[in-house]
Amino acid sequence: MRCPFCNHTEDRVLDSRPHETDSAIRRKRECRLCRRRFVTLERVELLPLMVVKADGRREIFDPSKIKKGILKACEKRPVSIDAIEKVIARVSELVQDYVMEIPSRAIGEMVLKSLKPLDAVAYVRFASVYRQFGDLEEFSKIVREIGAPSLRPEDSKKQEVESHAQASRGRKKS
Ligand SMILES: [Zn+2]
Repeated sequence: MRCPFCNHTEDRVLDSRPHETDSAIRRKRECRLCRRRFVTLERVELLPLMVVKADGRREIFDPSKIKKGILKACEKRPVSIDAIEKVIARVSELVQDYVMEIPSRAIGEMVLKSLKPLDAVAYVRFASVYRQFGDLEEFSKIVREIGAPSLRPEDSKKQEVESHAQASRGRKKS
C-alpha cells in the first residue's frame, strides 16, 4: 500500500479488524519510511468472469447461454434435462479455475467433454458450433471417435458439416 504522505510502498500492519459492516477489513498501517500512520479498508470485490471469444470480443460468463447451446444440441435427442443441468453444473465448477478471463473455446471443450458420453449426435452438433470445423481433418477425427453417427440433413444447419458427414459415410460404405 502506497503511503499517502510520502508515497513509500512499504508499510507494516499494526492492527486488522473487521469493519462494522463485516464486508470489509480495516487495517491500521504505519509507513516504514516516514512512520506516519494511516488506515485502509479492504473489501471483497467480485469480478465477473469474462469469456473471450475467438474474435477477441468479451462478454460476461453466463451459464444460461451454455444451457441454451446444449438444449439446442440435444433437441429431439434422448438426453434428460437433469443430465443437461449436471453438465452445466460441472462446467460452471470447472470455469472457476480461471481468473478474470476464459477463452470461449475452453468452455466449449468442457461442454464437449461432458456431452460426449451422453449423446453422440448432441456432441457433434455442439462441436459444429464451437469448433466451427475449420479443418476437415478435425471433423473426420471427431466422427471417427464417436463412430460416425448418421446425421440427417436437419441435424445440422451447417452445409459444411453436412457435406463432411456425407463424405465420411461414403468412405465407410466403400
Ligand atoms: Zn510515508
